[in-house]
Amino acid sequence: MLDPSSLPVNPTAVKTTHLSQRHSTEVRPIKADILVIDDTPENLHLLSTMLSERQYKVRSVTKGSTGLRGAIAAPPDLILLDINMPEMNGYEVCEQLKAHETTCDIPVIFISALGDVLDKVNAFNVGGVDFITKPFHVDEVLARIQTHLTLHRLQQQQQAHTLRLQQEIDNRRRAEETFKKSFNASPSPIAVTRLSDDTFIAVNPSFLRLSGYSQPEIMGKTTAELAMWQDQSHYQAAISQVSLNDSFDNEELEYKTRQGDLRIVLASIKKIVLDGEPCALTIINDITERKRLENEFISVVSHELRTPMHSLAGALDLLSTGELGVLTEQGQQILSVATTNAERLIRLVNDILDLERLKSGKMSVNRSNCNIANLVTQAVESMQAMADNAQVQLQVQSMSVPVTVDCDRILQTLTNLLSNAIKFSPAGGTVLLTVELDKPTLEEPASSNTLQTVPQLHITLSDQGRGIPFEQLETIFERFQQVDASDSRRKGGTGLGLAICRQILQQHGGRIWAESTLGQGSTFHVCLPTGSPV
Ligand code: ADP
Repeated sequence: MLDPSSLPVNPTAVKTTHLSQRHSTEVRPIKADILVIDDTPENLHLLSTMLSERQYKVRSVTKGSTGLRGAIAAPPDLILLDINMPEMNGYEVCEQLKAHETTCDIPVIFISALGDVLDKVNAFNVGGVDFITKPFHVDEVLARIQTHLTLHRLQQQQQAHTLRLQQEIDNRRRAEETFKKSFNASPSPIAVTRLSDDTFIAVNPSFLRLSGYSQPEIMGKTTAELAMWQDQSHYQAAISQVSLNDSFDNEELEYKTRQGDLRIVLASIKKIVLDGEPCALTIINDITERKRLENEFISVVSHELRTPMHSLAGALDLLSTGELGVLTEQGQQILSVATTNAERLIRLVNDILDLERLKSGKMSVNRSNCNIANLVTQAVESMQAMADNAQVQLQVQSMSVPVTVDCDRILQTLTNLLSNAIKFSPAGGTVLLTVELDKPTLEEPASSNTLQTVPQLHITLSDQGRGIPFEQLETIFERFQQVDASDSRRKGGTGLGLAICRQILQQHGGRIWAESTLGQGSTFHVCLPTGSPV
């Protein structure tokens, strides 16, 4: 037999918080509380003694109504109930116990001298759990009490478990509903893609609206298959960053709709794990109109600035010739500072306009035949004076490859990369420019639908300068992005050079990216299709 002292019933707690107690799984090893209702004092005495000896806590009353009040006021764990009592018999007491919220779950065992079948059936009908016939055997009573206490405890545990499950189901249902409603109603386009293979697994209606695709057209496809990003490598770099750093915030990307329209979006990507699978949650905001206005503003301001800037530079130049009078030494110094600043402003205005024209497609690629070796030589020659000034050695490992490119623009790219490498190199440092021919890649010429293989040039520019922090290797290709805010002042740059280079390469179907080790140097890689199919 079980030790009643270990039974998980808590009469005190039941008294105060009976409802919650009924569903609680809290198990406290204290004595079970048994209420005995019997109008025969000898029976009461016998049962009380027998139970008290077994460590049960016993309350005994001789009247049904008193027992009922006592059970409601302080619900016991089990009730032993006599049937034949004056004033209110056991059946009535049991019926009222079962009708009351506080006592309805308490197991009631009837004890009676009446032994015929009808009494037993009645006892069960009114809600009793068992029936013991007097005269009873002590061990039988104890065994039945024990069994019903255990059953009751298991029942309570089961109820609590079911309630918990139900609550959990409700919580999940509510969370799912909240998520679903927010996802579907979000004004920002949202997409979830698998990080392993970039396939779409969920998109919201805003995303469908922006993309122009229907749900079935998107699901299971990759962004590359749908050619959604104008610069797929830029997007891939963002995704790599998400894989490494968990998130990627507010990056400007160019998004291509089903109809081929180009939209500028601000994308934030966060790594999430769904069913154990790492996924990318991408939230984008269409800022095309905002960008258009911004670019228009910059372009108008730049145009307005360019004419007075040129006339200012002309005036300064005239002053420096001495034709208008000889300046004092201090005057010449001030003039030289003014000339440097005027030149920088002109460079800035020109770069802004250049970038704006490149981005808006107003400046198309003007391809002609040239040789990469010549472009490299021209670039190095034009930068040699700057390198000598900075005491930087320029080394070149070039090769002769005919290319069909916009020669001026590629020269501009090489010059800009060389100028940066020299600017950020220490005196005595070396800048190495190499040219290699990479394996051919597939390219679709505008004139036909067939794919052709086009050889790629791989140009690298390595320096031994201060290097670029890892997290800025991508952002430096955005306009006005500089590793150090003082770079433009100290090094005379505009923060637009690399953005222009990237635009030029994109227009050639090529790529540019950087690698760097802080304190050791940087390498800029350029992949450029030669433009001539093999
Ligand atoms: P800038 O006119 O300022 O050089 P760029 O767009 O060409 O503009 O370069 C952006 C920024 O990238 C630079 O200001 C500098 O902070 C960083 N950068 C570019 N090239 C290098 C390099 N070779 N070494 C270190 N930092 C570089």
